[in-house]
Amino acid sequence: MIQTMNPDKAGYTPQSALNKQKDEVYCQRCFRLRHYNEIADVDYSDDDFLRFLNQLSDKEALIVNVIDIFDFTGSLIPGLQRFVGNNPILLVGNKEDLLPRSLKRSKIKDWMRQSANKAGLRPIDVFLTSAKKGGQVDELLAAIEKYREGRDVYIVGVTNVGKSTLINRIINQLTGVQELITTSKFPGTTLDRIEIPLDDGHFLIDTPGIIHRNQMAHYLSPKELRLATPQKEIKPKTYQLQAGQTLFLSALARFDFIKGPKERNGIAIYLDNNLKVHRTKLANADQFYAKHAGEILQPPTKKELETTFPKLVRYEFKTTEKSDLVFAGLGWVTVPKNSNIAGWAPEGVGVTIRKAMI
Ligand code: GDP
Repeated sequence: MIQTMNPDKAGYTPQSALNKQKDEVYCQRCFRLRHYNEIADVDYSDDDFLRFLNQLSDKEALIVNVIDIFDFTGSLIPGLQRFVGNNPILLVGNKEDLLPRSLKRSKIKDWMRQSANKAGLRPIDVFLTSAKKGGQVDELLAAIEKYREGRDVYIVGVTNVGKSTLINRIINQLTGVQELITTSKFPGTTLDRIEIPLDDGHFLIDTPGIIHRNQMAHYLSPKELRLATPQKEIKPKTYQLQAGQTLFLSALARFDFIKGPKERNGIAIYLDNNLKVHRTKLANADQFYAKHAGEILQPPTKKELETTFPKLVRYEFKTTEKSDLVFAGLGWVTVPKNSNIAGWAPEGVGVTIRKAMI
């Protein structure tokens, strides 16, 4: 709701600005996001989101859960299956355009379904979309129409998975109107629910995302974030690693290959194509980082390393199958079965291991 009384609350726009807006009315926060790429904080807490999720089981609805295929585990909503009660869930893996074209989409969907089941989520169907490029959006709309059986549709997801972009795309596909919803690279752009009327008196409801704090996006400046977030189809980089070698993913993260099953072990890195990977000896890695982070290893910049960028924290794993070591929001490293590895990420950013996607 647009309001002119309280600058700290959602929907605020100064009266003077409101008088000037004619065809399009949007709040000061959306205005700044659109024109200056600036984000302002407003009161919307995780508790508000949980309260909202709690109501879902009382509704008759189809739930469309959008996740970021590039950050699968991190973008799942814990307990979603319980929150939705008997309502069916359609799982949508967005940002499909970032995955290498050589990967079979059917395989990825199988992997998504298995991984979802493991996390306690039992979707009735699985989709891969690119909200940005428009890939598979028609098919998704047809599936929504099929599964909703005359019910409302709730679109849920953590922040930054591309939910608003997807809804803009849907609105555009249905009506021809462009960019109705403000989107941005910053997590948490959508604040309140947005209802889009469907032609049978029901609604497609865009909901605010829960804030997903272990994402890299929360620790970088807008400029650095542009560098670290994959923008185009990822071209994996491959390495043959021996025991005791380290790869730095610019200065954002670090991968230690402690021990592997063979003398030389094939490793693949899925990361924005412009980010540089640097190989060094594990024994020298601490020194190397201390000396070169912010210089040879960039982003982040020296200044950010000294001020806002958290120090790297180490997580150790042993693989029992071919696995991906995932740095939330940044990318992943695929390692063979029976490897001892460690992943380092800025404090607060999730580092997890999963069955290899590829
Ligand atoms: P929301 O917080 O889930 O509503 O996410 P937004 O729609 O605001 O999108 C978050 C970021 O992801 C923005 O930088 C988008 O440009 C980007 N994004 C959204 N959809 C896609 C997609 O299909 N592919 C890629 N590569 N990026 C996307």
